[in-house]
Amino acid sequence: MSTEINAPDDVVIGIDLGTTNSLAAVMTPDGPRVLMGADASPLIPSVVSFLDNGEQIVGRPARAMAVSNPRRTVHSAKRLMGRGLEDLGDETDKLAYRIVDGGSSKLVRVAIDERTYTPQEISAIILGEVRRVAEAALGHAVQKAVITVPAYFDDAQRQATRDAAQIAGLTALRIVNEPTAAALAYGLDTSREGTVVVYDLGGGTFDVSVLKITQGVYKVVATAGDTHLGGDDFDNAIMARIMDLVQERTGTDLTAQPEALQQIRLSAEALKQELSDKTEVKLEIDLGADEPALFTLTRTEFEDLIRADLERTIACCRSALADAGVQNDAIDEVVFVGGSTRIPLVRQLVKDALGREPHTELDPDRVVALGAAIQADVLAGGTKDLLLLDVIPLSLGIETMGGAFSKLITRNSTVPCQAEELFSTSVDNQTGIDINVYQGERELVADCRQLGAFKLTGFPAMPANLPKVAVTFLVDADGVLTVTAREQRSGVEASIDVVPSHGLTRDEVRGIVRESIVHAHQDFAARELVELRNKADALVRGTRRVLDLPELPVPEATRAELEADLVALQALAAGDDLPALKAACQSFGDKTQTLADDYIGAAIKVELNRHASETKS
Ligand code: ADP
Ligand code: MG
Repeated sequence: MSTEINAPDDVVIGIDLGTTNSLAAVMTPDGPRVLMGADASPLIPSVVSFLDNGEQIVGRPARAMAVSNPRRTVHSAKRLMGRGLEDLGDETDKLAYRIVDGGSSKLVRVAIDERTYTPQEISAIILGEVRRVAEAALGHAVQKAVITVPAYFDDAQRQATRDAAQIAGLTALRIVNEPTAAALAYGLDTSREGTVVVYDLGGGTFDVSVLKITQGVYKVVATAGDTHLGGDDFDNAIMARIMDLVQERTGTDLTAQPEALQQIRLSAEALKQELSDKTEVKLEIDLGADEPALFTLTRTEFEDLIRADLERTIACCRSALADAGVQNDAIDEVVFVGGSTRIPLVRQLVKDALGREPHTELDPDRVVALGAAIQADVLAGGTKDLLLLDVIPLSLGIETMGGAFSKLITRNSTVPCQAEELFSTSVDNQTGIDINVYQGERELVADCRQLGAFKLTGFPAMPANLPKVAVTFLVDADGVLTVTAREQRSGVEASIDVVPSHGLTRDEVRGIVRESIVHAHQDFAARELVELRNKADALVRGTRRVLDLPELPVPEATRAELEADLVALQALAAGDDLPALKAACQSFGDKTQTLADDYIGAAIKVELNRHASETKS
C-alpha cells in the first residue's frame, strides 16, 4: 500500500497545543500518524526561553532552563490565552516570569527584560516549532491546521488560539474541543447514541468531559476539572522527598541552588514515569562525599504521595456526571487522555469509580493530536463519512433592562445556528437602542463577558413598548457571530460582526504578523551569527588543544600557518561580518580536518597515557 499523503497544497495537520506538551499529527492512508521531531519523539514541550543574547529557544532545551533561567522561561502560556489580569487572579503568583497588564486589549502580557509579549505571540512561537517539525517530517510546507482547545475555553480563549496560529503563519481551519478529538481518535461508533467520559490528566491540569454523540454530532454536555492538578504536582512530591534526603544526609538546603533543583526536577519526573512500569526505582545522588546517597521509591510509596490528588479527580468526575444527568450505567465508554493517565493507580481508581475499563489502546499523550488529524482530513476533503460539528461553548445573548442577560443562543447549540427574538423600548420616544452582546451562563451581564456593542438608531419616536426590534444572532460554521438588529415598523437596521472585545483586534494581529515577517530575516541572521561565533570558538579551542599537546610533532610551518589563521578567525568572530565569518569557518574547518584526522589517534593515545598516570599518582 502506498503511504502517500495529501498533496502538499491541501494538507491540513492536526495540532494539540497543550499546556505542557504540543504535537502534530496528519492523516495517512493507514490512519492518523503523529509527526516525529529530530529527537524521535513527537512531543514538543510548550516552553519558550529567552536568552541573554536575545535568542529564543523552544521545546525540550527551553524546558531544561525552567529552573536556571526562570524569569525568562515561559511555560504554561496556554493558561494566559485570552485572559485579563482580573481573570487570572492569583494564578500569576504561581509563575516565575512576570505578567503585566496589556492595556487596551484587556489581555495580559508576558514581560521579558524590556519587551512584552502577548500570550498569543508565545503560543505562536510554540506553534512555529510544531510547524517546523511537521514540515521536516512531511518534507513540504504546511499552512493549514485544526487546533484543539479545552472544552471549557470561551470565545476569547478560542479566538486567541486562532490568532496565535495566524501569527505562526498557519490558518486554523477549525478549533476543536480536546475531548471531542480524543473520542474521534478512538473512532467510537457514532451511528448510535452514546455517552463518553473523557478523563484527561496532563502535566498541569485535569479535565473531565461528558460527551453525548448522536449521529456524528459530538456535544460536550458537562465539564469539570482542576486547572492546577497534574503530573507537575507528582514531580514536586518526589522532588520534596529527594531534597529531604539530601538535607538529612548533608544538612544542605538545596532550595537556593537553581542548577541542582533543575537536575532534581528532571530526575523526579523520570523516576515518576519509570514507576508506571516498575514497582521500585532508585536514584544515586552524588553529594561529593565518598559514597553517593541512594534514593529509593516504591510504587506504593509514590501512590500514597498522590492518592489525595487522584481522589480529587474522581470527585470531579462525579460532579460532571451529575451535571450531565448521567448515571454510571449509562456510560458507554471511558477514554484516557494525558500522559499522567499512564500511572496504574489512575486506571484503577477511575475503573472502580465509573465501573468501566478505560480505553488506553492509543498513546494518551498523542490521542488528541490524532483526533485533530482526523478532523483535519475531513476539512481537507479526505474522510467523507464523518460529520463533526462544533458546539457553542457558552451561551450568547444581549443585555436587557436592569442589566439582565437575555440569552438568544444557548450553550452547546451546534454551529452553524441562528436565533431571533423581539425586543422593545422601555422609555417613551426612544429613537435608538444600544445592543450589548454578551457571552456567559449567569443571569446578570455584570457576571458575563461582553463581546461587542453597537447602536440601532434613527427609528421614529414611539411610545414605550411599541417599537419592535428583531435581534438576530447568526453563528457561521467557523464560529463567527454576526448580530443584526432591525426595527420592524420602520425597517431601520444595524449589525456587527462580533470579534471578541477581549482580545487582539484584527489590525493588531495583522500588525504582529507583519512585524514577525519583517523581523524574521533579522532574527534569522542574528541567530546564524551566534551559531557561527560558537562554531569559530569551538574550532579555535579545539585546534589550540591539539597544537598545545607537546608530544605531537606538528611541523613548524603548519603550526605557524594555523596560528595565523586562528588569530584571523578570532578577529572575524568578534565582528559581525557574517559572510566573511562563514567563509573563514568553512575554510579553516576544511584545513584542520586533515590535521585532526592525522593527530586524533596520537592525541587519544596521549590522553590515555596521561589519564593512566594521573590515576596512578
Ligand atoms: P498536557 O496535556 O498538559 O500538555 P501531556 O498530556 O503531554 O500534557 O502530559 C504530560 C504529563 O504526563 C507530564 O507530567 C509527564 O511527566 C506525564 N507522563 C508522561 N508519561 C508518563 C508516565 N509513563 N507515567 C507517569 N506520568 C507520565
Ligand atoms: Mg493535553
